[in-house]
Formats: sequence, C-alpha cells, structure tokens
Amino acid sequence: MNIWPELEVPRTQRPLPKLKLAYTSGNADLEVHSDQFKLYVCGITPYDATHLGHAATYLTFDLINRYLELTGTSVNFVENITDVDDPLFERAKRDNQSWAQLGESQVALFTSDMTALRILPPANYVAVTEAMDSIIFAIENLVDKRFTYELAGNIYFRIEPFLDELSISIDEALKIFAERGGDPKLPGKENALDPILWVGNKDGEPGWDSKMGFGRPGWHIECSVIALENLIGKDYLNSKSRLTHGIDLQGGGSDLIFPHHFMSAAIAKALCGFDFARGYLHAGMVGLDGEKMSKSKGNLVLISELLKSGYDPMVIRHALLSQGYAEDRMWHLETLLKSQERVVKLRSALARIEVAPTDKVIDSVAEHIANNLDSSSALEVLDQWALDTENGAIGGSVGELSRFIDAALGLAL
Ligand code: ZN
Repeated sequence: MNIWPELEVPRTQRPLPKLKLAYTSGNADLEVHSDQFKLYVCGITPYDATHLGHAATYLTFDLINRYLELTGTSVNFVENITDVDDPLFERAKRDNQSWAQLGESQVALFTSDMTALRILPPANYVAVTEAMDSIIFAIENLVDKRFTYELAGNIYFRIEPFLDELSISIDEALKIFAERGGDPKLPGKENALDPILWVGNKDGEPGWDSKMGFGRPGWHIECSVIALENLIGKDYLNSKSRLTHGIDLQGGGSDLIFPHHFMSAAIAKALCGFDFARGYLHAGMVGLDGEKMSKSKGNLVLISELLKSGYDPMVIRHALLSQGYAEDRMWHLETLLKSQERVVKLRSALARIEVAPTDKVIDSVAEHIANNLDSSSALEVLDQWALDTENGAIGGSVGELSRFIDAALGLAL
C-alpha cells in the first residue's frame, strides 16, 4: 500500500535521557534494547475519515518513534489497514458502494491527514487484502495444530490455554467481548470467549479460497500475522529457536486492549510459541465537549474537516500534544484556539535572530518527553522560552531549537 512521504529525524549528539514509558502491560525495555526497535501499531478500518481520536493515537506512537530515532535507536515501524472487516462491508452495502473503492478512498484521506500532521510513515503499511495469502497460511497452520474448531461454517480459535494471561475478570471480558463484535452467546462454542478466525462466506461479501472453504479472516489474526511477518520475517513460524519474544511494542487506542490485543497475542503465541510483544501501550480515548466521540452520536471531529476549515495542521498537532496521551481526554474548540495563540507566539519568537538561551530548553523538553511522553509539560517549557525571548533575553541558538522541536515534537514552525 502507498505510504505517505518520509520525514527525516536527524540523530542528536546531545546526551538525552532514555525514554521511559508507562506500559499498559509488559515492558519493552527500551534501556537494553537499542539496536532495532520493532513497533507495531494497529491501523484504521477504512470506512470513515480520520477523527481526532485516531490522530491522537497515531501521534502518541509518533512521539515514541521520533524520540527513539532522535536518540539513536532505529525503529522498524509497521502499521496495518483493516480493509477486510464487518464495518467496512456494512458501510459499503448501506451506501451501495464497492467496499474496495470505499476502502481506497478512506485510506487516501487517512494518508493525507497523516502527512499534514507530520506523522512519520511506517516502513511497511500493509493492507489485509495484500497479506491474505499469509493470513490464510497462518490459519491453516492453527487448524493443523488443533487450536481451532468449526462451528456453523466458521472457524473458531481455542482461547482456553491463554486465559491465564487475561488481565480482567471473565465476566468483564464477556461483557466487553459482546460489545466489541464478539459472539459469546453463540450456542456450541467451546469457550464463550473463543474468537472467530475464519468467517465462512456470507452472501455478497468478498471471500478467498482456503482449506477452510471460501471466506475471509477474522480481525485479530490479521494483526498477528502482519506484525510477525513484517517485523520477525517470513519464517516467523520457525523463529522460536532464535527468539524469546516477537515484537517490542504493540500499540493502539485503549479500546483495543481487550479483546483485540489480547486475542492477537494469544493467536501469535499459538503460531510461534513465544510471547507476541514485550510491551503494550495504549492511548486514551478522545471525547468532545463532555461526551464520548462516536460515529453513532455523529459528533466526530474529523482532521480533514478541520484542515478544510483552514486550521493549520501544526496547530492541530500542538493542540493534541497539549493533552496527555494516556488518560481519556475531552476536546473542546478552546483547546484548538488556545494552541493557535501559543503557536503564534512560538513562531514569532522563532522568527527572531536573538533569542533566549536554548540549551536548557532543549534538555527540558527532552526530559518531559522521555518522562512517559509528557508533551503537555514540554509545550509549557516552549511557552516560557517564547515569553523570555519576547522580554528580550538573548544567548540562544534559534536554529538548533527549531530543528529540535521539529525532530522531537514533529512541529515544523
Ligand atoms: Zn490490530
């Protein structure tokens, strides 16, 4: 799949603190692992445009990617496109449109939003349709290993051996599973939490040939296979002798913790025999004016709409960075307007020849980012520097600060 344009993050010679992250679970051990960091972020289902929640999630992992690259760790970043999934087919059917065309148009919109927001592109941006042979091969492998059973024309994955790793109660898991597309009440399931691996063909839906019959894969295995194949290698099924774990970090929005990331990890472990990811990190959800942002409520704030209304993408990026990533957060128009003012002040300071000292500012911004991506405090440091500059302080290097802000925060001002 076409990727959006590459952006360079120059490595710094400056000794900066190591990145510390508050993982949802696990520990990707950034201190030890310094050769190549394997990052997988769950991508969009392309049936609707990028909203602020998506942008906030991808921005979170962009900060990690940038900081690791800046401080000398090369990152192998892979993201998928869930272009085979129920919501996409349902939307296409409702709008009497081809699912492939709908997917393509929404991916194009997404990549243009990511470009505008200066999100570093993944090294591999893989659509499920492009990885179909590999996904089918993996499901066939699980069938051979007896991790599956057939029910009503579909193939289910046996989750039982992996339930020890569930971090929530079974009751809670059952509730969330039902809310997020699972079918815990389907009669005949061996375990109510068993996820679907292969969906037998339904009328009019796209399908592919396989030993399981004509059909399509379920969502969770798509990410397991795309991550393993692109980050571990095509021989991932035989990599247990050389590896103790799969990838370094799996990320996404906090709505993916369960079932998606739990199920993907279990499926990957069944395939390879080792733990899928060393660490998991999740970005909180974004609400609007006190309410949850959702398609059903019709209150999504779309990045493309904000851009169309004339908002500078760097102001949108600044506004998202002005809030912490980990907790659920509320978005208000004032968040954006406030950032607009702050960016104007920052730009005006950066346009001067004589500026306030920058050495400590760079160190301080880096310390805040390294401290679990505290971008909000990092931006406050920049506000103070802009104010000091406006008040006549001198002795700094505006070029150095400007390059650093661009590299670390992705703000090209
Ligand atoms: Zn995923």
